[in-house]
Amino acid sequence: MPKKDLILLALDASPAQQLIQRALHAVSYETALAEDRDKLDNLLQESVPALILMGERFSNASGTRISRGILERLPTIPILIYAEGDSILLAKEVLQEGLSGYIYPPLRNDDIVGAVERSIQRARRLGDWLRREVKKTTASLEKRAAISESELKRYERIFANIQDGVIIFDEKGEIQLLNQVMETAFGLDGEYRGKPVLDIIDHPDLHALIERAKMVPMKYHEINFDDGRIFNAQLTPIEGIGSVITMQDISYLKQLERMKNEFVHTVSHDLRSPLTSVLGYTELVERIGPLSEQQVEFLKRIRSSVENITSLVNDLLDLSRLEAGFDTRRENVNVEKVLASAVDTIEGQCKLSKLEVSMEVGKKLPVLRGNPVRIRQLFDNLLSNAVKYSPSGGKIEISLQAEDDQIIFRISDEGPGIPATEQIRIFDKFYRASNIPDKVGGSGLGLAIVKSIVESHQGRIWVESTPNQGSTFFVVLPAYRPEVPA
Ligand code: ADP
Repeated sequence: MPKKDLILLALDASPAQQLIQRALHAVSYETALAEDRDKLDNLLQESVPALILMGERFSNASGTRISRGILERLPTIPILIYAEGDSILLAKEVLQEGLSGYIYPPLRNDDIVGAVERSIQRARRLGDWLRREVKKTTASLEKRAAISESELKRYERIFANIQDGVIIFDEKGEIQLLNQVMETAFGLDGEYRGKPVLDIIDHPDLHALIERAKMVPMKYHEINFDDGRIFNAQLTPIEGIGSVITMQDISYLKQLERMKNEFVHTVSHDLRSPLTSVLGYTELVERIGPLSEQQVEFLKRIRSSVENITSLVNDLLDLSRLEAGFDTRRENVNVEKVLASAVDTIEGQCKLSKLEVSMEVGKKLPVLRGNPVRIRQLFDNLLSNAVKYSPSGGKIEISLQAEDDQIIFRISDEGPGIPATEQIRIFDKFYRASNIPDKVGGSGLGLAIVKSIVESHQGRIWVESTPNQGSTFFVVLPAYRPEVPA
């Protein structure tokens, strides 16, 4: 039988108070008596009793309500209510507040002691169970921590030997791992674990990558060093761990790309002058003497071929300029006007092919900050594709709208569509989809140019298309919002 446990009696003065005290003392429990709230609070501060026996009404207040306050501070303490009599309402309250139970007269000593002991034992069992669970969880956490420590060592060895730079940092931005390639890339030296990545690596491109990745899911970002090295960095958030940045040195690839662009630029440039003179001479031939019908036909074919090559060379030159980042002209562009004049130029072709063109333009379109010549080229290419790939009598729908600081251009046609697997590739240079009709000519450069223009204006382009039904090209460009002075 448990002895010497302290039972706190929160009971107003009454004959029952003495009866209960006597019953408990008889089995060697110690008791402490609180006859008002202050005394009760003091006693609870001095010691934690094994059980509280609380009057249903105590110190002019509801005993169950006072018990609720005590359980908020000491949630495992068993509390028994001493009531004047049985009632369903009381039983409900005792259950709701999570109390151990209630007793009421007539009471024999055994009833009091039995109720007290059962409540204490139940509380002890609960306490033991809680302690066991805490121990189990702590042990499993410790085990896990121990594993990750040794795993970490293994990973460190692996990361030290791979060619890519790797930094792992947790959700607070504190470095967990930083490998040798990273150290060399950023010229670091010392102990970094647990330190903020933004403090340790003071590089604007890396800071921009981390900051922007918080706002938009971002995959690739170039990290440029003053000495000409260029790295491609990738940030991957990993739930429960933080983020991983990996970096590859792409300086060599960049140099190759520059060389290739210079080559294309030079060759296209050098091709243009002879082509211009071929065109010039075909015109001269016509002027210097009467020509047979066949000769006129041949000259027409020469001219058409030269025009095709000239347009290809022009496209190549445009693309190499765009890719080299030469599209820096920026001015306020009235997109609606530019689109209207581009649509005007396809009117003749549309009539010839009996195409039905409809255009919907939103009200109050914002201004775009960009290069008007390139924006015109963007519209020209998409419009001419829609016309080129539309069947005779087809519908072309054009729409220009503004939404959330963005200008959205959409063009739909009823052409052959693009097979799903090729939709991503049609924006690549020289790529032409496998389903284009034989008679439709082209170089596969138009959409690559459009994509470069869209990207140099910080926009996005994509296509939605169903083969044999048609295609819709979407272009989203950020609108220009001049800063409003505070
Ligand atoms: P091309 O000179 O071949 O038209 P583009 O770069 O403009 O070159 O387009 C690339 C490819 O995308 C085309 O060859 C064609 O397969 C596909 N494409 C472009 N626009 C359309 C369209 N409106 N309908 C169907 N296919 C299209």
